Amino acid sequence: MITSKLPNVGTTIFTRMSQLAMETGALNLSQGFPDFDGPQALRDAVGRHIAAGHNQYSPMTGLPALREQVATKIQRCYGRAVSADSEITITPGATQAIFCAIQALIRAGDEVIVFDPCYDSYEPAVELAGGRCVHVPLGQPDFAIDWQRLNDALSPKTRLIILNSPHNPSGALISRTELDRLATLIRDRDIYLVSDEVYEHLVFDGAQHASVVAHEELYQRAFVVSSFGKTYHVTGWKTGYVVAPAALSAELRKVHQYVSFCGVTPLQWALADFMAEHPEHVEQLPAFYQAKRDLFCDLLGDSRFCFTRAAGTFFQLADYSAIRDDLEDVAMSEWLTREHGVATIPVSVFYQQAPKDLRLVRFCFAKREETLRQAAEKLCAI
Ligand code: PMP
Ligand code: GLN
Repeated sequence: MITSKLPNVGTTIFTRMSQLAMETGALNLSQGFPDFDGPQALRDAVGRHIAAGHNQYSPMTGLPALREQVATKIQRCYGRAVSADSEITITPGATQAIFCAIQALIRAGDEVIVFDPCYDSYEPAVELAGGRCVHVPLGQPDFAIDWQRLNDALSPKTRLIILNSPHNPSGALISRTELDRLATLIRDRDIYLVSDEVYEHLVFDGAQHASVVAHEELYQRAFVVSSFGKTYHVTGWKTGYVVAPAALSAELRKVHQYVSFCGVTPLQWALADFMAEHPEHVEQLPAFYQAKRDLFCDLLGDSRFCFTRAAGTFFQLADYSAIRDDLEDVAMSEWLTREHGVATIPVSVFYQQAPKDLRLVRFCFAKREETLRQAAEKLCAI
């Protein structure tokens, strides 16, 4: 019998809920992905590059043209000049980028601080590296960093803090002031950061994303991760990138080189073309997704769900205690899927220890207007 290195890992909630949605024919507002396609010009570019013979390995660090485009975007959005050669690495998805950063940093016995609710890929990566996650719950109801708890969680073994803003599942944003406070807290300690910013362009109501890339002090010890999947509506392309100072990038690349070596070549070509031709795409994203959030929330206003509009991401949390206070959220998500035809994600699965009275589910609003209207109609009828 094989002894599992990850005895606590099963099938993810995203796979389970998408599967249940498929089996029951429910509208799938669970796993986070759009039910519409990425831009036509972007999709056309892939075919063009495949036909043009761009089908062999790209450089290990990523296609130079794409790294240049990422550097240009970072300069434009965050005002930092980063080297496309030594500070940007293209990876097959943000998940792989995070995994490689963790393997590059964590040794047996190291502690990694994660904020609950937290994305599911962090902890297994830490455990495979021999480290241990220390879970620090975010404050309620705003999902902000609880500084006292963070302070209490720091130890001489703390080697890494994983940030995620805009935050999955809550949509909460970390502010520039909070980054400053974090910088002060870790200034004299040997602690690194992985900043998961895959929803960097999905921020609403005129807010600005406070990227760690734009923070002079924190950037020096950070791996900043993003995903083309979210920004260009192509989650299935599994293409992402890491920005980190040259010395950190060099260590990350040693791992990335042997996890996958490189990303998918024609996809990188297509993304490079599209970014060069359509720099406005990222500027238009906040309004694009805010309209979806507002449509969904306006329609849900007639339901018995309670919510505060998400500040970022393409997820909306909703409290269902006025509907079924007797059900815990996993059971609630199944009930909503089976009985009411809308699949959601329970929030407790993002916690090591969820608050007992948690009655929250997560809806993904990266959907066509028609899907959002149909879903809202079902949800309002409950
Ligand atoms: N981090 C967070 C917070 C996410 O929600 C997701 C994705 N879905 C990822 C990382 C992974 O992105 P990718 O699909 O590019 O691996
Ligand atoms: N990030 C996506 C979500 O939160 C899921 C990605 C996955 O299925 N691994 O829904």
